[in-house]
Amino acid sequence: MYRDRLSIITKGSVIFAGIVCTGLGAFYLPISRIDVGYLALILLAIFATPKMSLALPRSRFLVNFSDALIFLSFLLYGGESAVLLAAVEMLASCLYMRRQGVSFGRLMIATNVSISAVSIALTYLIWLNVPRLWFITAEPGTTQHLIATLGSLAIGQFAFSSALAAAVHGLKEEAGFWSIWKGECFSSSLTQIVGAGLAGVFYKLISYGDLMSSGIALLAIGIAYLSYRHTITEIKDAISQTEAAERERSQTERERRVEAEGHSAQLSIALDKEERANAALRRSEKDLQHAALYDSLTDLPNRKHFGDILAGMIEEYKRNSLATFQVLFLDIRRFKHINDSLGHTLGDKVLIIAARRFVRMLHSTDMVARIGGDEFAIILKGVATTGKAQKVARRILDHISQPFSLSSNRISVNVNIGIAPCDSEYNTPEEVLRDADIAMHHAVVNDCGVAVFTKDMREKFLERVNFENDLRYAIDRGELSMAYQPLVRLDDGGLLGFEALLRWNHSEHGNIPPNKFIPIAEESGLIIGMTNWILEETCKQIASWQKISPELSNLVVSVNISGKHLSNDDLMDDVENALAISKIRPETLKLEITESAAMENAEHTISVLHRLKALGVQLSIDDFGTGYSSLSYLHRLPFDTLKIDRSFVSSVGEQGENSEILQTIISLAKSLRKKVIAEGIETATQLLLLKNLGCEYGQGYLLARPQTRDNAERSLYERRSWLPEKINTGIEDAPVRPTKSDDALPVF
Ligand code: C2E
Ligand code: MG
Ligand code: MG
Repeated sequence: MYRDRLSIITKGSVIFAGIVCTGLGAFYLPISRIDVGYLALILLAIFATPKMSLALPRSRFLVNFSDALIFLSFLLYGGESAVLLAAVEMLASCLYMRRQGVSFGRLMIATNVSISAVSIALTYLIWLNVPRLWFITAEPGTTQHLIATLGSLAIGQFAFSSALAAAVHGLKEEAGFWSIWKGECFSSSLTQIVGAGLAGVFYKLISYGDLMSSGIALLAIGIAYLSYRHTITEIKDAISQTEAAERERSQTERERRVEAEGHSAQLSIALDKEERANAALRRSEKDLQHAALYDSLTDLPNRKHFGDILAGMIEEYKRNSLATFQVLFLDIRRFKHINDSLGHTLGDKVLIIAARRFVRMLHSTDMVARIGGDEFAIILKGVATTGKAQKVARRILDHISQPFSLSSNRISVNVNIGIAPCDSEYNTPEEVLRDADIAMHHAVVNDCGVAVFTKDMREKFLERVNFENDLRYAIDRGELSMAYQPLVRLDDGGLLGFEALLRWNHSEHGNIPPNKFIPIAEESGLIIGMTNWILEETCKQIASWQKISPELSNLVVSVNISGKHLSNDDLMDDVENALAISKIRPETLKLEITESAAMENAEHTISVLHRLKALGVQLSIDDFGTGYSSLSYLHRLPFDTLKIDRSFVSSVGEQGENSEILQTIISLAKSLRKKVIAEGIETATQLLLLKNLGCEYGQGYLLARPQTRDNAERSLYERRSWLPEKINTGIEDAPVRPTKSDDALPVF
């Protein structure tokens, strides 16, 4: 605000001074001396010099001819004329420049005009009033005088005009006087010097030169000016081309920079992505490692991880006998049954709960792993004696069996545990686990929950494994055969049919009793393949016997079906297949299922028996009285025959004592409207008692031992009665004791 006001005041003062100077110039103008020359100078100042100024490219220096004109006017017509000419020339220049597009601020044209007029006026005053200066001591008209005059004009003009301009601009632009003078006004000194030089030249030509030389000089100056102007224009063009090229280059560079920035942004995005991908990869690697070492269901270490840890402990124990450990092998009892009855999802949950309970029961230094479907293993670190390990195992047994609820089912998990103590004989984790497994099997067989491994167990186990292997190939080797034991009608001794009984004549060990190999066949699952073979063999056999005579066309064959096969989905197909191959009527095939197998999963048995019944086959409950049947289930089982277990028959004394149970079973069978067969009849007393109790059918050594195929066939042709002679006469004889050869069939 203050500056604005000061600037206006300064401009106003300058303009006022300009008006005064111009006015005085006009007032004191020596009219007598004014001629055409002066008018020509005025015209040149208005129309020519404004257009003739040349700016030196890339510099602040401006070459113009106005000063030359003003100084020439000063020399020819005096200071007053120069003041006027300066004002006119500046006004013309400013107007010309405005036409060219230069914009002037408020009062700036008037200010410029005034500065021009005032500076010439002041220069003139100094020139007039300081005549004793050394350079003006020379005689007027001499060259020395001329040079001194022009020099003082140039200096004065430069000093005043630049000082006034710097003062005005300094206030306007709020910059310091000195910096404005240095930056903006100093460059104009050249103009004054050039102007003074040119004025001197023209003055000399006009005063002393003839027309010819003046013309030549003017022409030379004109040509020099034009060529200079041309050069300047070329330089300007070259500069503007260079600037355009530079602009283009910088534009290209800018674009490249933008592009590069874009690329670098893309690159950083790509790097980011890569980093994320790497992180995901690292994570999945970790997951993979975890999956390789841990069980996905329970998150316990898996068999491999367990093996690695155990291998380390075996090595450590070899070096240091104090680094003791005990390995426990745990198997969930009847887990298959849990899985079958509750479904696999709940079965999985049971495993998870069991795993959690194991972990909770152990020290943090111990390790529990899931090494198979329902198999777990534990390392007890630092436990030296099997006694301590047994204590832990018993604690596990107690805790794990505590019932829990799962989807409204009350479940109790039980385990069998085998213990293998650390031993320097062990070299691999597999050896330790194998022995703990053997001990676990011992616990299963002996139903004792926990067993500690002994070398004796391993021998027995290996024997069993070999035995199982032999059994596996027994069919292929032709070592299996069937024996047929007659089932007899007790009233007339007629033949109801045969029970097919499997025999194994081992190439090395001779005849092996079914009671020894059937359980192993059941445990190993071999029983299913074997039963299929039996079904086919037996059905074909009965088909051929049924053709012997019309009375034999109803001959029935009983085949024992194991509990394992009963729970196998293929049973139905297997039976159908045997019927289809032999083409026997289904009702002449009877399937015997022991009471205990039937009751193991009674609901399932009921549904299977119904489906079997739908095939048309007969069904028999074997070894009845030993399987703790619930009467309600018995009622729902669709069987045809009830076979009384041998033990009830053999317990009957010579005088018929202990017959109450037999009587009860026979009454029960009758009330259920089932046929009843008594097994194991060995004495006439037993036979007579059974007959008296109303038992219709019998099977036993007294009637007939299991027969080879040929013997059985021969008896069919004989059409004999299977009742002993003496029974018919009512005379009792001694019981028939089983001989070695009875059990060692097929030799009879
Ligand atoms: P089981 O099904 O109750 O068969 C009757 C068993 O009693 C037979 O023994 C038979 O020889 C025996 N036996 C018959 N009468 C008498 C007698 O008066 N006194 C004595 N002491 N024993 C008599 P075996 O053939 O040794 O079979 C034993 C068990 O092995 C069978 O009992 C059955 O459970 C099983 N078994 C035999 N063969 C097969 C088979 O092919 N498949 C299946 N799954 N099990 C079979
Ligand atoms: Mg049987
Ligand atoms: Mg039986």
